[in-house]
Amino acid sequence: MTDRRSFLKGVSTLSATTVLGSNAAFAAPEENPPERDYFKEIGVKPFINAAAAYSAYGGRNMWPAVVEAMEYARKRNVVMEELHDAVGKRLASIIGCEAAMVTGGATSSMTLGTAACITGTDETLIRLVPDLRGLKNEVIIQKSHRYSYDHGVRNAGVQFVEVETVEELEAAVNEKTTMLFFFFLNDAKGAIKLEEFAALGKKHAVPTMIDGSNSVPPLERLSAYLDAGFDLAAFSGGKGLRGPYSAGMLLGRRDLIEAARLNNSPHSDTIGRGMKVSKEEVLGMLAAVEFSLTFDYSVENVRETRLVNLIADKLSVLPGITTKVSYPRTEGGRPHLQIFWDQSKTPLTVEQAQKALEEGEPSIRTPYLGLSDGELEVGCAMLKDDEVDVLVRRIGEVLA
Ligand SMILES: *Cc1c(COP(=O)(O)O)cnc(C)c1O
Repeated sequence: MTDRRSFLKGVSTLSATTVLGSNAAFAAPEENPPERDYFKEIGVKPFINAAAAYSAYGGRNMWPAVVEAMEYARKRNVVMEELHDAVGKRLASIIGCEAAMVTGGATSSMTLGTAACITGTDETLIRLVPDLRGLKNEVIIQKSHRYSYDHGVRNAGVQFVEVETVEELEAAVNEKTTMLFFFFLNDAKGAIKLEEFAALGKKHAVPTMIDGSNSVPPLERLSAYLDAGFDLAAFSGGKGLRGPYSAGMLLGRRDLIEAARLNNSPHSDTIGRGMKVSKEEVLGMLAAVEFSLTFDYSVENVRETRLVNLIADKLSVLPGITTKVSYPRTEGGRPHLQIFWDQSKTPLTVEQAQKALEEGEPSIRTPYLGLSDGELEVGCAMLKDDEVDVLVRRIGEVLA
């Protein structure tokens, strides 16, 4: 660990204007500082993203309109509750739902939505979460809908009760049931389909929530799950909507959104206090939805299809390499290129091939989710046109 003295010594070798967060920023006039290569300065390795907009790789890049809104908010004072009220109201009106709130992401939405179902607007209960001893603490979920993000629900202190059939679900409902939870991507895997699941919630007067996190675009999904009968729907802001990485939305029933707000920052003694979203991000989220609604997403599909075909063409001349275009569901049906190679000539596992690409110059990262055996994939959502040639060259060097 660096001690304070050596830290300050290091700082003193930099000029005042290059110190992040320096007081100089307050005194300086509003002008664009010279472009700095921050990552290089601090030793963060650049790479070509031939994978996807994974959270682990920083998600999608924000729309410029989002950054403009954030810059606007940066310069102004606002009462956070008033901003949340106004942005929530505007979001609900443009999306076409009863109520909306900006959260710290889909996972936060799931925690706050669950807490809302437990506490309503009861201040005493809000203070207790996630210690649910003696409270409603069961959430019913189809076994096939358990997944790596359901921790967002469990954060609120609840236990999952896993069921497989309608009969099992109906038998599982009791006075401790606080919510029914559904994961959009696993609709096909469960016996109880989306609309029937929502209807079961209505029948038993238990609120229902769906994780629709990365199912946008298409933008219609923002209201579709609620129209199908769900009471709450959770979405990410930093994926297809290209808002701030650490923002998202919880949409749905007015009373539940009100309760979720009370479980959230700026209220201090709440489960949501650690999920605060800045004024810049709250406004940025609104700008993201507004801009996304005007954006023709088919342009992205055309671009990615062109890139995938171009890469396939260029790889086709290399000995032993074959390719196939696929549309993985986990990636919202975006085109991916599957790449196969002659294992007898190049006996590399997928992991070894990925490692070679990652450790090469330039570093290249490829998809690691949803792969089949013995294939490498390339995704073009984050790939730039001028990165295609070096990508093809490196794949050739590693595999051919
Ligand atoms: C990304 C993702 C989440 C988490 O969303 P955040 O906005 O990052 O919290 C939840 N569920 C699914 C299916 C996701 O893809």
